[in-house]
Amino acid sequence: MRENKINGKKQPDINHLVKGVLANDRKILAKCITLIESNSEAHRKKAEKVLEKLLPYSGNSVRVGITGIPGSGKSTLIESLGLYLIKLGYKVAVLTVDPSSSVSKGSILGDKTRMEKLSRKTNCFIRPSPSGGNLGGVTLKTRETIIACEAAGYDIILIETVGVGQSEITVRSMVDFFLLVMIAGTGDELQGIKKGIVEIADALVFNKADGNNIPKVKLSQKEFTIALHYLESYTKGWQTKVLIASALKGEGIKEIWQMIKEFVKVTKKSGVFNKQRKNQALQWMYDLINENLKNNFYNNPIIKKEIKTVESKIKNGKMLPTLAAEILFEKYLK
Ligand code: GDP
Repeated sequence: MRENKINGKKQPDINHLVKGVLANDRKILAKCITLIESNSEAHRKKAEKVLEKLLPYSGNSVRVGITGIPGSGKSTLIESLGLYLIKLGYKVAVLTVDPSSSVSKGSILGDKTRMEKLSRKTNCFIRPSPSGGNLGGVTLKTRETIIACEAAGYDIILIETVGVGQSEITVRSMVDFFLLVMIAGTGDELQGIKKGIVEIADALVFNKADGNNIPKVKLSQKEFTIALHYLESYTKGWQTKVLIASALKGEGIKEIWQMIKEFVKVTKKSGVFNKQRKNQALQWMYDLINENLKNNFYNNPIIKKEIKTVESKIKNGKMLPTLAAEILFEKYLK
């Protein structure tokens, strides 16, 4: 029974997985996520069945995306925030979406020992980015993982991604609140603006507000608060906030949580919260369709063969890429 094994280990059946997840058995939750992340067709089918049963128990968390360039202090901040939330009695899940790990074997987010204190807490569940596949595939799996974590009773899902490209946009499409971690006075603030990340954030947090750095951080906070008044905010009815914090010292963490709570209150009252969730669910479906179509196309045996031929023709200047795409598509539809 090869399908029932992942990495050589036997897998529990569907009901056992569902029961275990609902009882917040962390080992079973981890197994369920491994099943979700598996690329085998049989595992996919099984994961779908499990998720279908978990879906009614999901949706009750606050989903928070956290991004920022490497070194801005994301993991330190998540650790501080996570520990604070656990103290308040919440259950916290931390997921990561690391675009680098899906492209190369190296990983920007996963290499270091991260969030050591947080990972020892029983009310916290940390899951690194799934590896293998493209970013589209990785993020589809993260969406499913969110469902599983919510069904297991996690109240707050923190989804970390690294601010180097496309991954912020995809994480934005699966969270309620999006937070950008910045550092002051390095010119790096400009990166967020250039790449349009500031526009999709609900809050900017200037981290490392400690020691000699405080005046610089306060200046950035002032400048950005003014600048943001000229930008249209991402979430209707919510003015993008600019906070400061020292993740290292645990300062400003309480204020971050207060802000997120306020956001949830305001947007739930206005209906924006639920509207965004519904739109995201639709987006999820369309992303899946696109991903499936793409995989179906490239895995088609005729396409696999033909694509090599047209590739060399294009490289040698013997065929227009537009014509090549047209020919391939016609063959695919036949
Ligand atoms: P990430 O790559 O964005 O996850 O950043 P890390 O959380 O790994 O932090 C990068 C470096 O900045 C580490 O050496 C941290 O100790 C340091 N750091 C993080 N937060 C703070 C802070 O609030 N103040 C100071 N002074 N250093 C910090």
